[in-house]
Amino acid sequence: MQTSENSTPTPEQQPSSFSQLPLTNGFDADNPPDPTLIDACVHCGFCLATCPSYRVIGKEMDSPRGRIYLMDAINEGDAPLADATVQHFDSCLGCYACVTTCPSGVQYDRLIEATRPQINRNIERSLPQRLLRNLIFSLFPYPNRLRVLMRPVTLYQTTGLQRLIRSLGWLPKISPQLAAMESLMPPLSPKAFQDTLPERIPAEGKTRYRVGMLLGCVQRLFNPEVNDATARVLTANGCEIIIPKTQGCCGALSHHQGEEDQARDFARQLIDAFEGTEVDAVLVNASGCGHTLKDYGHLLKNDPAYAEKAAAFSAKVKDVQEFLANVGLTASLSPLQEAPLTMVYQDACHMLHGQKISLQPRQLLRQIPGVSLREPIDAALCCGSAGVYNILQPEVAEELGQQKVANLINTGASVIASANIGCFVQISKHLEKQGRVVPVLHPMQLLDMSIRGEQLPTDEWSGE
Ligand code: SF4
Ligand code: SF4
Repeated sequence: MQTSENSTPTPEQQPSSFSQLPLTNGFDADNPPDPTLIDACVHCGFCLATCPSYRVIGKEMDSPRGRIYLMDAINEGDAPLADATVQHFDSCLGCYACVTTCPSGVQYDRLIEATRPQINRNIERSLPQRLLRNLIFSLFPYPNRLRVLMRPVTLYQTTGLQRLIRSLGWLPKISPQLAAMESLMPPLSPKAFQDTLPERIPAEGKTRYRVGMLLGCVQRLFNPEVNDATARVLTANGCEIIIPKTQGCCGALSHHQGEEDQARDFARQLIDAFEGTEVDAVLVNASGCGHTLKDYGHLLKNDPAYAEKAAAFSAKVKDVQEFLANVGLTASLSPLQEAPLTMVYQDACHMLHGQKISLQPRQLLRQIPGVSLREPIDAALCCGSAGVYNILQPEVAEELGQQKVANLINTGASVIASANIGCFVQISKHLEKQGRVVPVLHPMQLLDMSIRGEQLPTDEWSGE
């Protein structure tokens, strides 16, 4: 990993790097990065040390400040929107650590959100990249399509073929991206192949709130136990739950990669699915989804039919931990093991930087008797998952995943709590690669076990 530098490039250095690039057309007129937002950057460089792509790649152009320079240069016609510049936007994880760090309040999130659709519209990617992106965006947001594919994948995992293919080591040579996708697939439980939660689940005891619940698309396949646990925790704490059957993908995956039209279509469908449910809040247990749902008002601001509905919908969206910490737990909690239990909570970027939620999950976990929390170093640094970044940019993601897992393990905690499906998959993969057996559980799973009086099966997880 490269050492961070906070030095500001001299005016002589910066233009010379752009001037080596052939000039072509810049951004089109459809919402280019806003010059007013660009001008808010005073080039201080405080954001560099917290930027995961800069930490790994070590180049100014792969830092927030470098990318802002680049957006400005493209806006001004001093640099092209071309493969040579696009790679520096593609290397951005969209983690928004720079937004948290920036003392000048630069809205880098809005800038990169404006840049990615420009790239998707105006740049013809290589054939392998196009095929991979088409595969991702026509598959991952559709649980039923994913389920069809996952049947042969389960056979691949269970018949020994996966072991054989991995031992031959061909896949990374043929396509590092396909190899990354293969390495990230967790073993699937039978629950992955159907949605089992009913459309309405009554509260246990007195109904305190009526809430909607989002199932997510990748989560309901790759870790369906989280939705079951979330439903049990909510009902045990006096919530009646509404789960519209018509709900599909929330559009987060597409939104974070600048596939705007697809993201907007998904957003409209989801708003329609929850229309008339009269819920007090729409609850989400995956941080990437929560971040996008809270941004529907912005995403659909130019759609006259949906702008108002989208803003009203977003106002109701809460991360499930944010909601529970706010309304308070009423169910009683039991220890998860007889001895004191150390846990480390892993901050997902779209929770910490995207939604500014860090205290609430910790507050809930600390209420479990016997739990003490430890903090890892670089807690605010991305694990490399970042939606589908770990498939599209596997080398950088690999480095970040290894670092994250090492930092989590170094806390000495016996359990890792993680509230985002992407982080769960990435951390699980790197734990396995490092030969470590530490359970990675969603805070809702831990609360659920505690409410039900279940103990952690420590024998199974005694890999320390
Ligand atoms: S984005 Fe913010 S922290 Fe980064 S260089 Fe610009 S002003 Fe400084
Ligand atoms: S969003 Fe994350 S990866 Fe992208 S520039 Fe900001 S800190 Fe770096």
